Amino acid sequence: MTQRIALLGHPVAHSISPRFQQAALDALAIDARYEAWDVPPADLPIALERLRSAELLGANVTVPHKEAVFRLVDRLDPLAERVGAVNTIVRRDGQLHATNTDVAGILAALAGIPLHGASVLLLGAGGAARAVVVAMHQAGVSRLTIANRTLDRARALAVLAPGIEVIPCSLEATDATLREAMAGASLVMQSTTIGMLHGPDEAGSPVPADWFQPGQTAFDLVYNPERTPFLRAAEAAGARPLGGLAMLVHQGAEAFRLWTGVEPPLDVMFDAARTAMKEMAPR
Ligand code: NAP
Repeated sequence: MTQRIALLGHPVAHSISPRFQQAALDALAIDARYEAWDVPPADLPIALERLRSAELLGANVTVPHKEAVFRLVDRLDPLAERVGAVNTIVRRDGQLHATNTDVAGILAALAGIPLHGASVLLLGAGGAARAVVVAMHQAGVSRLTIANRTLDRARALAVLAPGIEVIPCSLEATDATLREAMAGASLVMQSTTIGMLHGPDEAGSPVPADWFQPGQTAFDLVYNPERTPFLRAAEAAGARPLGGLAMLVHQGAEAFRLWTGVEPPLDVMFDAARTAMKEMAPR
């Protein structure tokens, strides 16, 4: 019996997960199909019932269903609850177990970057930023400054990182706290939608280009385009640029481990993801 894995989202046509997940399944000769299911919110309960069929290994969950699935699964693990979002469901013994692999994806993408005791600056305080805060807490950073256009959203994230110094501030270039944090951070993480293809400000970067420092690491969660204006400015200043594709592939790799129990072929996944991105790039 060919097994199946679903991606639940609305819309889902733009997602590159089917490309790199199927490539990984094929490379390991696993008889399974990764399918994108476009599920309008009203149909989510029916989609979750379909996931209970014997041939389903599980699912990925994306916008707008990451919170709505909470009440439709049998088990929600504490990590997903803390992050406030489910991105992976595993069908085990007939039950739907929900978790979040974004935190693992972030930490894997940052492998080799010293985080314990580090000063980190996070730009943005939306859904993805929650996983970043939990990841930074797990990694033992000592200071986390969170800068956001809407200051209250930055303040609200402090509860996710108990025991570490969390400093909320505004994302204005005139904000002295932001400027100081940028000067003192060994890692700057960009989680706004600025710089994203078809986002609110494709050509923009949330911080002035001349604020980056040599030796800093600049991580942009945005993965399309692979080199955002934020990353280009960081690189020009001698900082180390890291794009969001690594987080995307690593969160998918962690989900793959959970569904199949097998170590995923990361090289195959990265190659397939990059090929898919090139094919989708505007000409
Ligand atoms: P979200 O929940 O909608 O949050 C958007 C964030 O961007 C908020 O902090 C928002 O600030 C800020 N923002 C939006 N427009 C802005 C503007 N014009 N000026 C300043 N700030 C602005 O989105 P999300 O789910 O967190 O996703 C954020 C980005 O991360 C997206 O580009 C997404 O593709 C990427 N992402 C990547 C991965 C990966 O695997 N690499 C995973 C998840 C997300 P306010 O709070 O003030 O509105």
